[in-house]
Amino acid sequence: MENLYGLSHAELIQLAEDLGLPPYRGRQLFRHLYRHGQTDFSEMTDFSASLRAELASRFRIAHPRVAESSQSGDGAVKLLIELEDGLLVETVAIGSRRDAAGGKSGRAQGAGGEASDLTVCVSTQVGCPLACTFCRSGAIPFRRNLTAGEIAAQVLLAERAAPEAARGRRNVVYMGMGEPLLNTDGVTASLALLADADGFGIPPRRITVSTVGLPEEIGRLGAAAPQVGIAISLHAGDDETRGRFMPIGRRHRMPEIFEALENLPPSNRRITIEYVLLGGENDRPRDARELLRQLRRLAASGIRPHVNLIAFNPWEDPAPGPPHRPGTEEDAERFLGKVSAAGFVSTLRRSRGRDVLAACGQLAATPA
Ligand code: SAH
Repeated sequence: MENLYGLSHAELIQLAEDLGLPPYRGRQLFRHLYRHGQTDFSEMTDFSASLRAELASRFRIAHPRVAESSQSGDGAVKLLIELEDGLLVETVAIGSRRDAAGGKSGRAQGAGGEASDLTVCVSTQVGCPLACTFCRSGAIPFRRNLTAGEIAAQVLLAERAAPEAARGRRNVVYMGMGEPLLNTDGVTASLALLADADGFGIPPRRITVSTVGLPEEIGRLGAAAPQVGIAISLHAGDDETRGRFMPIGRRHRMPEIFEALENLPPSNRRITIEYVLLGGENDRPRDARELLRQLRRLAASGIRPHVNLIAFNPWEDPAPGPPHRPGTEEDAERFLGKVSAAGFVSTLRRSRGRDVLAACGQLAATPA
């Protein structure tokens, strides 16, 4: 039986028409699937009993399930998700309480009733073929791309795992396992499910897709989802250093990546530059100078990126682990100081969820 979960709005309208129903039935189905997360036709009470029975006899609604959940001491919840074919990915739900002034306190999600936000970090592939040396997702075998339904369902499952936080503002970051722009079709189709007001209803400005920077695919993403933020995993200020940690960096050099960013429609120039600090390798003063050179190049073309420095998160399995170590706190602060002093909005992120291997670069979907 055909699984409806993951079908687009247009596909559900077509399906309604194929069944001899008016198009608005397609929209109703869309709402049941993505706004309400409904998987049982018998509970779709705005359909007649005979229509419910007909749908149930011809179709099914199935999305991935949570196989395991690990609660980190700092409020992040890591979900091990089992796909229909038995493959596993991970999703991280990060709750953060908002104080009265509306700022984020960065603490764990509040207990009952308090305003709190949810950030869901979704995976787009099982494993990752790009094999960046610091990233655990690239150290396990790559199996396949996720479908639009498998990506969107991670948000549903994260909301259920963190119901208090899901009542506040919801953000989605495509920063889990995999390279989103090796799966641009699945990613853009999932974005349509998440951003539609009758679907998940998450404003596109609260969604960010992170990529190593595949120039042609950046253009396709920008055309399909013009308001979604784009984060570029840069991690170095020159192509030679970058190519040492990121094999893909030898194929697509920074000028080519920046050109793709410059060609985006002005509406999605909400660009973040991500930079993992690797001790002694890219966190020295001269590395900061190189990065600033690149940031100024971007600024000259009208793009003022937010710079997100990420402390390196170590992992050990699969052996032998990454050939990198975290830098010192002082080096990180000095690096941050240089970037900020040059006028770029920058933050130093100490990842949440390290204790349960839920932090950036630690996802590998291995059952505990
Ligand atoms: N493939 C995409 C999506 C993954 S996002 C991308 O590379 O952008 C995950 C982010 O965490 C990326 O910026 C990635 O470079 C970073 N990361 C990977 N391994 C890490 C580690 N061990 N410690 C900290 N950050 C890491």
